[in-house]
Amino acid sequence: MMKIQTQSCVVKGKYDVAVVEQEVEYQGTGTLVKITRGGICGSDLHYYQEGKVGSFQVRQPMVLGHEVIGEVVASDTARLAVGQKVALNPSKPCGLCKYCLANQQNQCTHMRFFGSAMYFPHVDGAFTQYKVVDSAQCIAFDADRDEKVMVFAEPLAVAIHAAKQPGEVNGKRVFVSGVGPIGCLLVAALKALGASEIVCADLSPRCLDIAREMGASICMHASNDDFSRYQQEKGYFDIAFEVSGHPLSLLRCLEVTRAKGTVVQVGMGGSFPDFPLMLLIAKELNLLGSFRFVEEFDIAVAWLSDGTINPLPLLSAEFNNQQLEQALAFAGDKRLAAKVQLVF
Ligand SMILES: [Zn+2]
Ligand SMILES: [Zn+2]
Repeated sequence: MMKIQTQSCVVKGKYDVAVVEQEVEYQGTGTLVKITRGGICGSDLHYYQEGKVGSFQVRQPMVLGHEVIGEVVASDTARLAVGQKVALNPSKPCGLCKYCLANQQNQCTHMRFFGSAMYFPHVDGAFTQYKVVDSAQCIAFDADRDEKVMVFAEPLAVAIHAAKQPGEVNGKRVFVSGVGPIGCLLVAALKALGASEIVCADLSPRCLDIAREMGASICMHASNDDFSRYQQEKGYFDIAFEVSGHPLSLLRCLEVTRAKGTVVQVGMGGSFPDFPLMLLIAKELNLLGSFRFVEEFDIAVAWLSDGTINPLPLLSAEFNNQQLEQALAFAGDKRLAAKVQLVF
């Protein structure tokens, strides 16, 4: 057995975070990983700013983070040699429920996802220096790859999963409403998958600039620009992706998608009391949800590894793991930051 000290980034409640010393025990099962870098995600920010995500309240100190990479220190499988670089898939499905058996692991009824207060005791995240994980959660990549790039595997997996929800996007006209990090990665994924025209909208000119760099054909200001041309003849786009979680953004998606087209809801939002049911009915639209990912994590690692997608326009800043609070404060200022990374 191996015992190692590790510095972990924990959240205890609203605006209450700390870097604490913890002990990791490795007993020879699974893989012990030395975490090298992590990306701060929207859910980490919710835990920091609100002490909760949706109805999942932080009730005990919980390690944050689910977008990380690292290198193998010890493993129970020969596939993972010491020093092997790995991206960590934060999903640990049960493997036994009806969804797992149907290869729909993102719907697992007993999913243990890094850094989630859904269960009590909470499932710790991976913003720590050493962590023991299931060996199946370790996706290997070549040592010469840029770590700044490879940390985007998890959010890119979310984007690829969303891009695949409506079926074939090759040759299709698509609309992306909301281009934060997931929206921009979705733009890049749709481009890689052959979408013929990618129009996006956002309230932030800075986000629109990044979307343009990542492959958008046309970038529109969500409130200042005129979308009427996209609403003519019952809509222009074959597929629209809502990635902001805002009701007005979903309304726009329903308006600009052609009859018989598909709207994919990716952004997490609250309620929509005046949902325009008649638009959905009369245009015979398909409305789909998209949540996390399954095999898309491996695809994301491959696409980052071979340069299919360059996520670096999204990287706003890097901080040392000791600077957790500064990093979260900076990442929370959406006027300045897209993706912020922690170095361990
Ligand atoms: Zn994330
Ligand atoms: Zn399951």
